[in-house]
Amino acid sequence: MELAKRARQISPSPTLAIDAQAKKMQAEGMDVISFGVGEPDFDTPEHIKATAVEALNSGFTKYTAVAGIDALKEAIIRKFKEDNQLEYQPNQIVVSSGAKHSLYNCIQVLCDEGDEVILPTPYWVSYIEQIKLAGGIPKLVEAKESNGFKLTADELRQAINPKTKLLILNSPSNPTGAVYTRKELVALGKVIEEHNLWVISDEIYEKLVYDNLTHVSIASLSPKLKDLTVVINGVSKAYSMTGWRIGYTAAPPAVAKAMTDLQSHSTSNPTSFAQKASITALLGDQEPLNLMVKEFVKRRDYMLERLNSMSGVICNKPGGAFYLYPNISAFFGKSLGDREINNSTDFAEVLLAEARIAVVPGIAFGNEENIRLSYATSMEKIKEGMDRMELTLKILK
Ligand SMILES: *Cc1c(COP(=O)(O)O)cnc(C)c1O
Repeated sequence: MELAKRARQISPSPTLAIDAQAKKMQAEGMDVISFGVGEPDFDTPEHIKATAVEALNSGFTKYTAVAGIDALKEAIIRKFKEDNQLEYQPNQIVVSSGAKHSLYNCIQVLCDEGDEVILPTPYWVSYIEQIKLAGGIPKLVEAKESNGFKLTADELRQAINPKTKLLILNSPSNPTGAVYTRKELVALGKVIEEHNLWVISDEIYEKLVYDNLTHVSIASLSPKLKDLTVVINGVSKAYSMTGWRIGYTAAPPAVAKAMTDLQSHSTSNPTSFAQKASITALLGDQEPLNLMVKEFVKRRDYMLERLNSMSGVICNKPGGAFYLYPNISAFFGKSLGDREINNSTDFAEVLLAEARIAVVPGIAFGNEENIRLSYATSMEKIKEGMDRMELTLKILK
């Protein structure tokens, strides 16, 4: 007996794999500092937790409407209006079990067998597997480091052919932290409109933007782009609610309906009391978020300076999310003892074995020359980790 082809072609999430390896070493008593994590290190704010407790105590523990409760949809509609100048109706909003689930549903309903999906590299790890699960063909297009890891309108135009169905955009980006400007999105938007492409715009890091940059949703640039775009967002990253599993989409009504129907036969409604808590997250006190943003900026600036001071490491200054994505290709051909470094995985393995720091090799995101370091960890650990990395790089020959 064999597993289905669908199952055989899935690769496990490489970011989770590194984290698991680091955790295993920690469990064995080793002092490993992990820069592999993909979630904020802050606790969920108390006022959000309190809402969930109240909901539980009041018996809000049963099935809800498949696409989410009305009050949460209203809160989401308000968020889109205030933050993104986008007007949606309740039948355009679908709440799912995390933004990853929203993406899954969306790709399932938009992508047919054999459709091409344009995916700028470096890409977040789950997009490519989700495209393949839908029978689609990932069309990888390099978003050049020299352009801040952002796809240009010309590069997009060149990647389009009659089989192209969909483009996936992620700003601010995981893994690079790149934030597209309005001007860059307008240029991409023109090409998208010319070719009538569907766009999935993953805006999960919307609230984590720095240096007076502003997040712009491509859906807000024109009525036509709004009709072509599915906006993905959620509470995981902005409100330190990764474990609560609430994500949401805003989409044209037909897409939202199809996603709801799919969800009705798979997971049904997202967790009832987590939905209630998400209303508080979106409409309640935003001070914990503001404090988190301030702390992230401090850490980013410190880590960036440390990395760029290491000979051979070159790192762009990212405008958002909580990752740095330095280029480490200058170390290819060097070795530590009998371990030669020829790619991003070798580099990450040497760092884990020698410096006891965990990073994610760029190949997990489709590019070999870089590694991803998350700064969603304490300043103390960042300092210690940077010291160790610096020492290790110095002994490479
Ligand atoms: C974390 C992340 C998600 C998933 O968020 P969840 O709501 O926790 O499922 C989606 N997209 C990107 C780019 C992410 O980094």
